Amino acid sequence: MLPKIRGEYVFNCKMESVSFIGTGGVCDVVFYPKDEEDLVHFLQNKPPDLPALCLGNLSNTIISDGGFRGCIIILTRFMNDIEFNENYVRSEAGAMLNSVIAKCIENELSCCERLFLIPGTIGGAVAMNAGVPDFEISDVLIEISCISHKGQKFSLKRSEIDMQYRSGNIPENLIITSATFEASRRAVPALNSIIDEIAKKRISSQPLGQRTLGSTFKNPPGHKAWQLIREAGCSNLKIGQASVCNLHANFLTNTGDATSEDFIRLIRLIKKKVFEKSGIYLEEEIIFVGEIETK
Ligand SMILES: Cc1cc2nc3c(=O)[nH]c(=O)nc-3n(C[C@H](O)[C@H](O)[C@H](O)COP(=O)(O)OP(=O)(O)OC[C@H]3O[C@@H](n4cnc5c(N)ncnc54)[C@H](O)[C@@H]3O)c2cc1C
Repeated sequence: MLPKIRGEYVFNCKMESVSFIGTGGVCDVVFYPKDEEDLVHFLQNKPPDLPALCLGNLSNTIISDGGFRGCIIILTRFMNDIEFNENYVRSEAGAMLNSVIAKCIENELSCCERLFLIPGTIGGAVAMNAGVPDFEISDVLIEISCISHKGQKFSLKRSEIDMQYRSGNIPENLIITSATFEASRRAVPALNSIIDEIAKKRISSQPLGQRTLGSTFKNPPGHKAWQLIREAGCSNLKIGQASVCNLHANFLTNTGDATSEDFIRLIRLIKKKVFEKSGIYLEEEIIFVGEIETK
């Protein structure tokens, strides 16, 4: 049924082994394209009724325990080249943000170092408009190259995309294949001191190294989600093996063999308690894939 490709297919893939939080059911097929042309060929020749969805490092995504009926496209395995000149960095979408930052520093370039230790890909970072309080990836984005689900290649300039807080607003069904960012010369010691500072801050305030998805909810205007969660008495909530993190209440962690359903139930409970306490309805930052009901 599926076209012959140069990359790799993994059939009946257990997504708990691919996902960052270690949960999720079986996906019919995961496709790792070899390069852009391989992806175009796949999209032009796949069965038209086969749903296809592109994910990055799944560091912001929960896959349903029922899995995904269709194809998940992942670019991390082969599409991760990074190139530079004095004024820009161009990275394929499957490269990890941290690899791009490390290569920029090696080349004395300042670009997106303030996103150090965010465990996403370039594609995921642009799609989510990844950011920290004083910086978002959209601040340095010049343009993206993408492919439509029908296999048509084109590019979009930053000014053509309405990027917002934690949402790249990338038109539905587009796969980002690479992104180009502004860069400027900066000495290595100055760059290293920025990332050292960030590392110290993250180590003391986030459960790094644990199975988590980062911030579960967006900060509502004028509020901090973690504070609303604490004030609603949710600091010690746990459902199954999914629990609210002691270090950062907006992070949920898999403390054992949690299921996606554990996380979903915990998310629903937090939303209910926060609403009852503050009248504020929290909106998820994380993405759900497959059949999941979060209301
Ligand atoms: C410990 C920890 C700390 C974190 N800290 C932060 C933080 O400070 N700031 C922040 O913003 N986030 C943070 N995150 C969340 C997450 O890492 C980011 O949102 C990251 O950008 C997601 O990238 P990903 O590749 O894992 O995307 P995924 O989770 O795989 O996908 C996220 C979304 O992007 C889409 N997508 C991915 N790749 C592509 C592509 N090539 N083309 C089109 N769409 C695509 C997917 O369809 C999905 O909708 C943190 C997560 C963890 C675990």
